[in-house]
Amino acid sequence: MPTSEADRVPGYRAVPFAVIDPATGEAFDEAPDQQPDELDAVVDRAHRAWHGWRTDPVARTTALRAAADAVEAAGDDLARLLTREQGKPLTESYAEVARTAARLRYFADLAPRTRRIADGRPVDSEIRWRPLGPVAAIVPWNFPLQLAAAKFAPALAAGNTMVLKPSPYTPLATRLLGSVLATVLPENVLTVVTGREPLGARLASHPGIRHVTFTGSAPTGRAVAAAAAASLARVTLELGGNDAAVLLDDVEVDGIADRLFWAAFRNCGQVCMAVKRVYAPAGLHAEVVEALAQRAKAVAVGAGLDPHTRLGPVNNAPQLARVEQVTKQALAAGARAASGGRRLDGPGYFFAPTILTDVPPDSPVVTEEQFGPVLPVLPYRSLDEAVDAANGTGFGLGGSVWGTDLDRAEAVADRLECGTAWINHHAELSLAQPFAGVKNSGVGVAGGPWGLYGNLRPFVVHRPQEERR
Ligand code: NAD
Repeated sequence: MPTSEADRVPGYRAVPFAVIDPATGEAFDEAPDQQPDELDAVVDRAHRAWHGWRTDPVARTTALRAAADAVEAAGDDLARLLTREQGKPLTESYAEVARTAARLRYFADLAPRTRRIADGRPVDSEIRWRPLGPVAAIVPWNFPLQLAAAKFAPALAAGNTMVLKPSPYTPLATRLLGSVLATVLPENVLTVVTGREPLGARLASHPGIRHVTFTGSAPTGRAVAAAAAASLARVTLELGGNDAAVLLDDVEVDGIADRLFWAAFRNCGQVCMAVKRVYAPAGLHAEVVEALAQRAKAVAVGAGLDPHTRLGPVNNAPQLARVEQVTKQALAAGARAASGGRRLDGPGYFFAPTILTDVPPDSPVVTEEQFGPVLPVLPYRSLDEAVDAANGTGFGLGGSVWGTDLDRAEAVADRLECGTAWINHHAELSLAQPFAGVKNSGVGVAGGPWGLYGNLRPFVVHRPQEERR
């Protein structure tokens, strides 16, 4: 079965690159290292496929529903491969596959609304919505399948075609997903390309691409926006975050500690909108540190395929080195590890779940995105101080406020400068809601109908109501 463009192109000449199992640190498979000059043919085919795909919304709905069924039917294979290359516990991989299918189903049934303008002029103005053309999607390694679906489900539902590039750290589950979807979608409507840089840079700047939708880090997002400027393609950027959780003085620490812990440590902390900093009232700080450290010490860390594992490895060696570096910097500056604080001995990219206290507020583990299983807990004396600190980084993806008085918590949440603010939980998303970061966390809006319209352009038709005689 063809699994990617690589398998379909006659004379295809990519040499493979190794894919590492983060639980062992060893290569376990390989993926084609496609070259930038192959993209001309790929984008050309996506363009030709667009002319058929854009014309029939009913056929699109049927195909996208069938795509959701096909993803579920392949769930076991997708989940196991995802865990193998990404590292996350198998239960989380199954959940990711389920969310991939759910996104396809949600967008299969979503259609743009044609509107008429009634402003008193003797013309009928009708706003219709048209697709853009071939869309390029570039995604990271933390949620390869569901982030890809967050791109292709709205883009295809809107009548575009897509060229999708996963991270070189996690190309395999996406290749398999591409082959599963190829059984139900018309040829070249969705093409998966794999390879190392500059493949992504070339895709972002390709003149045949009309929208570049990117999820990843802020520095790469800037490079993608600059590359897309060459052809003035539309750009949607979903970038990093440094979400703060602000605990109020009426919070019941025991009651929220499990939720708070997992809001920070799910997927080994490699979640754009994970809790990455906790601000606790000075009087509760020690209790919060203790409650989180207890959980960090007790959690089962191991290979994702082991059914006992709740926390897997960090996905890749550079990311592990970064987590180690920001932790060492904080410890050298006077922080104390209430749990963890170091790499685990043995093979694989494992880092002990770490709760840091006495952290200098200007430490990179506070001011930057650590993206790993390390959480600083900082004390505050006044609520203004906590809100200022929460808003005081260059990011603005999400944030949360935790307390017993929900009205008071909501009033504090309203002061957070971010795209989504939660009360007494964090990172819960509905498929129907908009998702948009501010500041360095993103440009454009994904999710819900906003995600659909982000892949469409308005087309307006004016006609006289009646010729006057
Ligand atoms: P990254 O920016 O290094 O890479 C993301 C993707 O871009 C990968 O596919 C990579 O191969 C590709 N890429 C690298 N250089 C490129 C270039 N010059 N031009 C085009 N593409 C290029 O990010 P990562 O390390 O894979 O992922 C982690 C980051 O993603 C974190 O910052 C995290 O917060 C962010 N993220 C954001 C969201 C969100 O929705 N806001 C979701 C998940 C992850």
